[in-house]
Amino acid sequence: MLRTLFTTVFIVFIGATAVSETTLESYLVKNDVSLQWDALRGVGTLWFGIDAVTFRLDSPYYVLNFSDIHRFDAPKVINDEIILTETTVSFLDSFVFDDTTRIASRDFSRVRAIFIDPGHGGQDPGAVAKLSNGSSVYEKDIVLAVGLHLQEMLKSRFPDKEIHISRDSDTYVSLEERADFANAIELGTSESTLFVSIHVNASLNAAAQGFEVWYLPPKVVRKNLVSDTVAFGFEEDTVEILNRIKDEEVSIESVLFARSILSEMDEQIGHISSNRGIREESWYVVRNVKMPAVLVELGFISNTNERSYLIDESYQDILSRALFSGIESYILTVEGTE
Ligand SMILES: [Zn+2]
Repeated sequence: MLRTLFTTVFIVFIGATAVSETTLESYLVKNDVSLQWDALRGVGTLWFGIDAVTFRLDSPYYVLNFSDIHRFDAPKVINDEIILTETTVSFLDSFVFDDTTRIASRDFSRVRAIFIDPGHGGQDPGAVAKLSNGSSVYEKDIVLAVGLHLQEMLKSRFPDKEIHISRDSDTYVSLEERADFANAIELGTSESTLFVSIHVNASLNAAAQGFEVWYLPPKVVRKNLVSDTVAFGFEEDTVEILNRIKDEEVSIESVLFARSILSEMDEQIGHISSNRGIREESWYVVRNVKMPAVLVELGFISNTNERSYLIDESYQDILSRALFSGIESYILTVEGTE
């Protein structure tokens, strides 16, 4: 009798707990977590800094960092809102802590080489701006100047690493050649190349200004390997995904690399230009290199004020230094040298 009573009380308690649900949206806002959402497949990836948790609507499986599978209450859609139960929220909450701990517990690949990729060149000028005196300003020239200076700094700071550049003059290099060149760098086990593509933005909106860093959304990497029709959350898909851990690690390293560069840019030019944040896009060169890769947009050539900075040599040096510091701090973090 006593036992039955206990069971009843316990069930009531569980019942009450299950009621305290939260919407995914409010969870994101509260914890500063970002969501990548694939509406077609009903699959979402929550990014807790460099850690990712992937889930599927109505499926009880949550995959941590594309490898460890956890089972909790399935996320449901109620009144157009994705609802998470308290059990799920407490599992997710265990990822809301500072990056230092997470980075320390991870095995990153050693940086063997750095590949600098100044965009455009030769017959491809990239973004162009006409000045009032009739002359033109080309993206290809700004990014080359920044890239060459960056190469110099990296060479003297990291004499033990290979520092490559996709072009060191005003020549045309196709996107395929850039990706092939970077992919051909020989690496040992657990070694990687860092790929940084440098660009300058332009917009029809003359007021647009600021810098941003792009990386490949992890789902794009998966898309190349797992067919679109194969959905997440079933046994066979799980096997597929386990095989892709290495590719996903590259995504995680790219996110960390992007954040490192953005925060140095923010520090060094944030008072002059605006930080437009980290963005995800499937750029050709970023998509086709098998390494941590980012694409940096230094600023808008179409904005009169920002253009006056971008064409200024001393500002270009500051930009190179910001990229240099971002690369340096990423290397020190993953290699644990400091
Ligand atoms: Zn460009």
